[in-house]
Amino acid sequence: MKEMNLKYEICVIGAGPAGLCAAIAAARQGKKVLVVEKNGYLGGNCALGLPLLGFLDLNGKQIIAGMAQEWVDRLTERGMCEGHRTCPKHNSVTCFHSETFKLVAIDWLREEKVDVLLHLEACDTDVQDGRLKKVTFYGKGNRVTVEADMFIDCTGDGDVAYLAGAEYDMGQEDTGVLQPPTVMCTVEGVDTAKFFDYIEAHPEEMTYSATIDHRPGYDAPYFRASKNHVFVGLRQTFTRLRAEGRMPVERETLIYIKSPNPGEIYINSTRLLRTDATDIVSLTNAELEGQRQVGALVEVLREEVPGFENAFIAAIQPNLGVRETRRIRCHDVLCADQAVAGEIPAETVTLSAYKIDIHSGVDRSTIFSTIKEAYGIPYGCLVPKDVLGLMVAGRNIGVDAKVMASSRIMPVCMALGEAAGYGAALALEKGVEAHEVDVRQVRAKILENNGILTRP
Ligand SMILES: Cc1cc2nc3c(=O)[nH]c(=O)nc-3n(C[C@H](O)[C@H](O)[C@H](O)COP(=O)(O)OP(=O)(O)OC[C@H]3O[C@@H](n4cnc5c(N)ncnc54)[C@H](O)[C@@H]3O)c2cc1C
Repeated sequence: MKEMNLKYEICVIGAGPAGLCAAIAAARQGKKVLVVEKNGYLGGNCALGLPLLGFLDLNGKQIIAGMAQEWVDRLTERGMCEGHRTCPKHNSVTCFHSETFKLVAIDWLREEKVDVLLHLEACDTDVQDGRLKKVTFYGKGNRVTVEADMFIDCTGDGDVAYLAGAEYDMGQEDTGVLQPPTVMCTVEGVDTAKFFDYIEAHPEEMTYSATIDHRPGYDAPYFRASKNHVFVGLRQTFTRLRAEGRMPVERETLIYIKSPNPGEIYINSTRLLRTDATDIVSLTNAELEGQRQVGALVEVLREEVPGFENAFIAAIQPNLGVRETRRIRCHDVLCADQAVAGEIPAETVTLSAYKIDIHSGVDRSTIFSTIKEAYGIPYGCLVPKDVLGLMVAGRNIGVDAKVMASSRIMPVCMALGEAAGYGAALALEKGVEAHEVDVRQVRAKILENNGILTRP
């Protein structure tokens, strides 16, 4: 085994939306930062073809900016994003070309002088007297041990916190059920004009179950007006195909995200029920079954849906998208009643206003609860309560399962990463623990970078 020992001030594990922002924020504070990522590319779920949801609240007011907005600006500069658009179904959508996200990430990390190691998975930790001292990564016959003054776990699954012995929760409070993962794909050759004509002629395709809310105007003219849209529909077709025994996915509707490129869409419609993405056998089965479902779904769309006759799979995304695994127990744990009430705690480091969006892990249903007013996520949700030298950001923070179903969207994860990066840098500068940082200073840095911390 090839051995390497490295020493950094801050080590970020995971290069998804949270990890990239954590690394950039810490580097901008003058810290020597290493990002370690298990994939061969940067971006995490931002590379899957998903839209950035939740920049705007229910009333169309922007509630997330800062570094998350910088990503949008950089993608827009390259002609691969058109900014935020209000959506009668999702509050707002911000669609972008996911391959371009990877390219922006490479340039931006280089610009900020963040070091990167890919193809390495965090597999072991060295905890002494309750403090995380080192994390060991393995990949391609290499064992790389990183010593750092502060680690930020942005793995989505809280892998490092788990390995370091942090307490955590998983699944919905009442049932323990986890939201299901999805294998996504890129499809090209779609005749969108023909498809929208079909949708216009068949309004019954745009009906939803009672748990899914949407406002008027979510229709063919809305989709035609801009390629910046997310389509959720075809309910009639999906219901008919299921009755005929020809529907390969456990979904009531097709969901696609329009890419900025003509005829190109990203499909988010497989659902791998009863999956635990922290269990390697379950994960393997879900990846393979999800890829199989993608193939079968595109085939049936080609046969049945006007506009899809010449569509083809350009890519099956290299990793399934995981919605839910561990939530690390932190100094603060934000609960659904606080979020629904629109509470904004004094130590808030980002707002969030996306719906509570719970995909069932055992059937085809999805339950949405509207968030009427933005709520705040406090800094304490980023600091594990029982491991020192460690912060968490992104999907795996200290919130309950219902809040996670809202706070997991990528712009919020970016904002949480940015806050964790500032918090970690401040802890090192002041020689204090992460939980002892003066959160007013973290908030000041967020505001300096055009972040939003109060409701518009
Ligand atoms: C199917 C699906 C649809 C979604 N739809 C939307 C949507 O439309 N809009 C939206 O805004 N959000 C959406 N989300 C939510 C959002 O994508 C995620 O919650 C968000 O990306 C989480 O960000 P993160 O940085 O915490 O984790 P991730 O984006 O998962 O990034 C984690 C990174 O850590 C790496 N990693 C993991 N474990 C290790 C390890 N042990 N060692 C080293 N590296 C590791 C991973 O490879 C990955 O690059 C969706 C999620 C899914 C799964």
